[in-house]
Amino acid sequence: MKIGFEIHVQLKTESKLFCNCPTNYWEAEPNENICPVCTGLPGAKPNPVNREAIKKALLVALALGMDVEDRVVFLRKHYFYPDLPSGYQRTSTPLGRNGRLGNVRIRELHVEEDPGRYELREGLVDFNRSGVPLIEIVTEPDMKSIEEAEEFLKNLHLLLTYLDVILNPSIVFRVDANISLEGGERVEVKNINSIEGVRKALKYEILRQRRLLETGKKVERETRHWDEARGVTISLRVKETEEDYRYMPDPDIPPVLLSKELVEEVKRALPELPWERERRFVEEYGIDPSDAHTLVLDKELGEFFEELSGKVDPRFAAVFLADRLRGELNYRGLTFRDVLHLREPLERVAVAWYSGEITKNAAVELMRGVLDRTVVDVNAEIEKKKVVTDVEEVVEEVVRELASVVEDYRSGKREALNRLIGEVMKRTGGRADPKKVREIILTKI
Ligand SMILES: [Zn+2]
Repeated sequence: MKIGFEIHVQLKTESKLFCNCPTNYWEAEPNENICPVCTGLPGAKPNPVNREAIKKALLVALALGMDVEDRVVFLRKHYFYPDLPSGYQRTSTPLGRNGRLGNVRIRELHVEEDPGRYELREGLVDFNRSGVPLIEIVTEPDMKSIEEAEEFLKNLHLLLTYLDVILNPSIVFRVDANISLEGGERVEVKNINSIEGVRKALKYEILRQRRLLETGKKVERETRHWDEARGVTISLRVKETEEDYRYMPDPDIPPVLLSKELVEEVKRALPELPWERERRFVEEYGIDPSDAHTLVLDKELGEFFEELSGKVDPRFAAVFLADRLRGELNYRGLTFRDVLHLREPLERVAVAWYSGEITKNAAVELMRGVLDRTVVDVNAEIEKKKVVTDVEEVVEEVVRELASVVEDYRSGKREALNRLIGEVMKRTGGRADPKKVREIILTKI
């Protein structure tokens, strides 16, 4: 089995690729962010390419270890669809080639403009998305199982998150997947919108092709559409070739020169990548590699770890965050980004537990309370749950005041001891360690 991907990611820029319209299409009213350029009106003159989009695309290419071209040209890719009034989509020649992510080779990376959105049922078109910058990442067919494919997409997502290039975090990928089984032709499945969708589409398609091959039928080279709602792939067209698009250089768009200086500038802006951070966490803080891995998977959680490590032992911080907090977040279907506003109380709980102010049970209970918003004033709660350090004083008080119970114990009534322990626990609000209380009482009587 061979699996390869073409992955489209909208780039985080303020304005569109060839005009000044804003890119936040999902927050705007339909057809609010539009102009003659991005609606493809005849004679509209596009801007030169948005430099910010080029820089972000370069950042991704460099992070994937690609060879960068020194000149990129925009081509017109012709096809007809109601969301593309110009009749062509502008797409660049490869900006980078020959990259790698894990075991998967990346063939090339392009910059493109997104088309608009066409609602098939109502026949309505919204051009807010039209002209939003995209990158297209094309892999070699190097993945040999659904698990490998999923792992690759997760790694790519993590990388793009670290590079901070994703326009809308809730719509990360649009994926076209190529699948071929031994003895069959290559089938392309278009329009998959999530990692979960990729898994389902691959599973469906592999079964479909296997069934055909097992019954002696042919798997033809074709393009299929993933129908998310029905969970099936549907044949779109058979044998589509590059020539059908009649690619030609766009005379309106000047070529983009990627100078050595520009590449160097972007290289300097490369942030620490997830795998680099993971290695550093282990070396610099001496934490467990599996904790380091977990902390790196959630970028903001990793940043919180470094902050917390300045206040408590890093190994304690790593376990507290990677194990305890992460577990509680997973249980609630959250990432640390969702609770960034709760950093302060969470830090307070961690420090209180670390310093022995509160017990482990109290810490876990408080952490849950903070996440569920049932604890508003974390300092007041810590005060209430504080471990009583001066148990001895309370014991002396009880022994003095309950002299007759002490007498009972001395005259052989064993159960009187339990009454004394119970009284101490009551007066400390249950925040003393009963075993320790017992020991102290015995030394006093
Ligand atoms: Zn526009």
